[in-house]
Amino acid sequence: MLEQIISMITPYECLSCGNEGPLLCTACQKHLPCAADAGAPKDAFAATVYEGHAEQLVHALKFERAKAAADVIAQVMNERLPDCNIDLVAYVPTASTRVRMRGYDQAAVLARRLARMRRVPFAPLLARVGQQRQVGQRRAARLRQLQEAYRPLRVGLLQHKRVMLVDDVITTGATLHAAAEVLRQAGADAVLCAAFAAAPKRP
Ligand SMILES: [Zn+2]
Repeated sequence: MLEQIISMITPYECLSCGNEGPLLCTACQKHLPCAADAGAPKDAFAATVYEGHAEQLVHALKFERAKAAADVIAQVMNERLPDCNIDLVAYVPTASTRVRMRGYDQAAVLARRLARMRRVPFAPLLARVGQQRQVGQRRAARLRQLQEAYRPLRVGLLQHKRVMLVDDVITTGATLHAAAEVLRQAGADAVLCAAFAAAPKRP
């Protein structure tokens, strides 16, 4: 609300060219690099690379100017996402203490916008269970623990559905994979993982 009032008084400036308007203008959005060279896993889609202006947008989404950033991020994702048949748009819930401090879940904000753009229902299908640390464990144990970190919601709704699972950033892909697997095991027919940005490949 406050953000809406502020944006009416002072419009945003493009992070890149400085023109008044969206947080990243449509011309500059086109210069966001393609994520093909980033470290995104093959079976997850990422619209761009997590660096530069994309990184600034995600920061804005989490810490200030959330609405303005969400508008741009969802627009870029929608334009770059492959055309595919989906029935529902869900999101990977962020660790709950962070959400509580912030008052909203940035992945949910993006998923809602994408659902509206794609004209399919938005559905919260995952909840976080506790807070687990994943330091210094073996890969298999880490994966199991990641899956145990999510619990499916509205299981009846997701049966035989094709779900788009949205997150803001893919780092290793492990979280997104684990969350997708929980939905598949709960009865979803297919899960398309979609993020705004993928972390750049480590040299
Ligand atoms: Zn611009």
